[in-house]
Amino acid sequence: MSFASLGLAPALLRALDEQGYSSPTPIQAAAIPPALEGHDLLAGAQTGTGKTAAFALPLLQRLYVDHAAPAAPKRPRALVLTPTRELAAQIHANVRDYGKHVRVRATTIFGGVGMQPQVDALRRGVEILIATPGRLIDHIGQRSVDLSHVEVLVLDEADRMLDMGFLPALKRILGHLPRQNRITWLFSATFATEIKALASQFMREPIEIQIAKPNSVAATVTHRVHPVDGARKRDLLLHLLEGDASQTLVFGRTKHGADKLAKMLDKAGLRAAAIHGNKSQNQRTRALADFKSGKINVLVATDIAARGLDIDQLPRVINHDLPMVAEDYVHRIGRTGRAGAQGLAISLVCHEEEGLLRDIRRLLKQDIEIAPVAGFEPAQPLRTDDGARARPQQKPQQKPQQHKPRQNAAPPRHGHAGKTAAPAKSASRKRRRRGGGQRSTQPA
Ligand code: AMP
Repeated sequence: MSFASLGLAPALLRALDEQGYSSPTPIQAAAIPPALEGHDLLAGAQTGTGKTAAFALPLLQRLYVDHAAPAAPKRPRALVLTPTRELAAQIHANVRDYGKHVRVRATTIFGGVGMQPQVDALRRGVEILIATPGRLIDHIGQRSVDLSHVEVLVLDEADRMLDMGFLPALKRILGHLPRQNRITWLFSATFATEIKALASQFMREPIEIQIAKPNSVAATVTHRVHPVDGARKRDLLLHLLEGDASQTLVFGRTKHGADKLAKMLDKAGLRAAAIHGNKSQNQRTRALADFKSGKINVLVATDIAARGLDIDQLPRVINHDLPMVAEDYVHRIGRTGRAGAQGLAISLVCHEEEGLLRDIRRLLKQDIEIAPVAGFEPAQPLRTDDGARARPQQKPQQKPQQHKPRQNAAPPRHGHAGKTAAPAKSASRKRRRRGGGQRSTQPA
């Protein structure tokens, strides 16, 4: 199938050609024709499926080709709501790329940066406004934007906006949009009941499109769990990163934890940075750019900050901690194994996280290989799916691999504040006491 057969205008086809896109992805093929016809859409698609172009292309066609009319100051003709700043910036960049030959006037509005440049951009007039809900409410409050002329509303990653507690903000924003003659396109990785409720309240007979099965991950991703004691996770992470220099996105559960991890890795001589909600927009943009250009090799992120990071062909994701919600595992892993490339998803799992691991397995409906790493076996092995413990190792244990700090590196620290590194000896003592250990594999 070609983009031309979807009914897109030549100016957009040219831009797509320049982007090197030869054919539409499934979500684009399914969403673009009904979107061009002006239907409401309820589209189930995850990040990495090409969903941004699926709404950006029909949006550009409607605003700049089919019903071209410059927007009045402060009165955007289209509103794209998205949960994070990174996603907003990413959508803006894509809109600019795809709309290269139609003179797009678009702007982004998100928190963490000054209001005034946003106010100025709105006053100059934009057709497309890409915003996170919180900051948009601020602009509505100070009347720097008037949403009464919005023709198209896009709700991107609607499930995540609800997870992040944006429902009241969304409802307030929706109250400022015209009720009649508005087209709504809602994109969501999952269709939880709340999403359906939102859709039924604010949409007109939407066409439902479901591309990937909900909560499915690419078949090209290998999942692997390294069981480890919580206190030794950092050492194991360092060991894995030192053993394989491929670009890696590391997930931590908290902002503070992500910061500590990035600092620890940096001190150990690995080029690492953290990206999370407490970082300024400049810091986040720089960290992402450095990671994309290869200036840094390891990016430590929290779930929310990682939403919408568009990093092509990322070979490896490491979960230093399992996410509290199993669906977030799918989002994390969505960064690797894209577009048919091979990907590796490693999770460092301690005994306390067994329940979270079980939830993830249930969601994925697949088993995950449990591969203890020599020298890092936990005192208490993880339960496998059938409730049995991982098979104990019969052969004598290899010499445990202990992280050797590099020159100028800080001594390794552990998950629990104040504790110092467990010496290699204590790990082997533990194994002897258990009369063996788990089957060990070398880290990938
Ligand atoms: P998204 O799901 O919108 O975040 O897109 C994921 C990645 O796929 C981005 O890097 C896009 O530039 C890329 N992409 C989107 N559509 C196509 C296409 N039709 N052909 C090739 N790459 C695409």
